Amino acid sequence: MFDAIIIGAGPAGCSAALYLCRGNARVLLLTHGGSSLLQAHTLENYYGLTSVSGSELYQQGLNQVRRLGATVKEEEVLDLSYDGNFILQTNVAAYTGKALIMATGSVRASLPLPGLKELEGKGVSYCAVCDGFFFRKKKVAVLGNGAFALHEAAVLEPLAATTTLLTDGAALPAESKLPGVDKKITALEGTEHLTGVQFADGSRLDVDGLFVALGTADTNALARKLGLVLEKNYLAVDQTMHTNIPGVFAAGDCIGGLNQVATAVGEGAIAGMEALKFIRAQAQHK
Ligand SMILES: Cc1cc2nc3c(=O)[nH]c(=O)nc-3n(C[C@H](O)[C@H](O)[C@H](O)COP(=O)(O)OP(=O)(O)OC[C@H]3O[C@@H](n4cnc5c(N)ncnc54)[C@H](O)[C@@H]3O)c2cc1C
Repeated sequence: MFDAIIIGAGPAGCSAALYLCRGNARVLLLTHGGSSLLQAHTLENYYGLTSVSGSELYQQGLNQVRRLGATVKEEEVLDLSYDGNFILQTNVAAYTGKALIMATGSVRASLPLPGLKELEGKGVSYCAVCDGFFFRKKKVAVLGNGAFALHEAAVLEPLAATTTLLTDGAALPAESKLPGVDKKITALEGTEHLTGVQFADGSRLDVDGLFVALGTADTNALARKLGLVLEKNYLAVDQTMHTNIPGVFAAGDCIGGLNQVATAVGEGAIAGMEALKFIRAQAQHK
């Protein structure tokens, strides 16, 4: 059991970890798919550093939190739940924590697919655990080809009549036993409700539900699993980084705003201190 689990090891996650570790908390940091910093060639606008490469700053942050005793694991978080503590399922193991900090970075672009936006909530979903029940004995498809897509498909398979993996042109995962289509998708069909998927070669597939699970489970996907409120695609927090769920805090690009290292570090520090207060208050009530 960890005192706090932080999803994300970029500036926001590492900054939160610094404050938690220095307050004697047992901290787990999970990271998968890299920080935006790794795409930043040179930063010249961070306090005290005239010029630094994004990858160097990222590594320094990880070294710093490891030195302070944080456990850092390169694992993809696939699922979140709560049973009095927060339970995180990764592609490797499950972990529990008393507090959770979301420092998951910027929201990834969805597929610019005709019909996708319009059919959200009308057959298009981003969370198998949340919406799978509505597709009992129906035909569903999962869009994606990574561990997250396979995880979502495993949730749907016992419920749905058929579960098909759609990779939008990417290779079908070798480990999957599900039926799959590796053709490019051109459009979704349906007005009142999703009825099918069209492919570039002119063929189509009848589906009632499409679960989008592209790449890594991102902020939106994870938020939906726990019931965290989103505002315009960002996690909603108050001025002290509290989300709508007690014990869950968020910081950095996943809450929107300036989307810079300076703001991520500041918000991470506040989230870390608030998580520490939460953990200590819980301990006093036991
Ligand atoms: C090209 C480019 C140039 C930039 N230049 C500058 C600049 O000059 N100055 C500046 O201040 N900012 C710059 N930025 C922005 C800056 O990089 C971000 O604001 C900052 O990295 C945000 O920090 P963060 O901790 O919120 O998110 P990130 O650094 O993006 O970290 C997100 C973390 O969440 C993890 N994660 C997400 N989902 C999961 C999951 N399911 N399981 C496990 N881990 C997960 C990722 O692996 C990563 O560790 C630039 C960004 C880009 C892309």
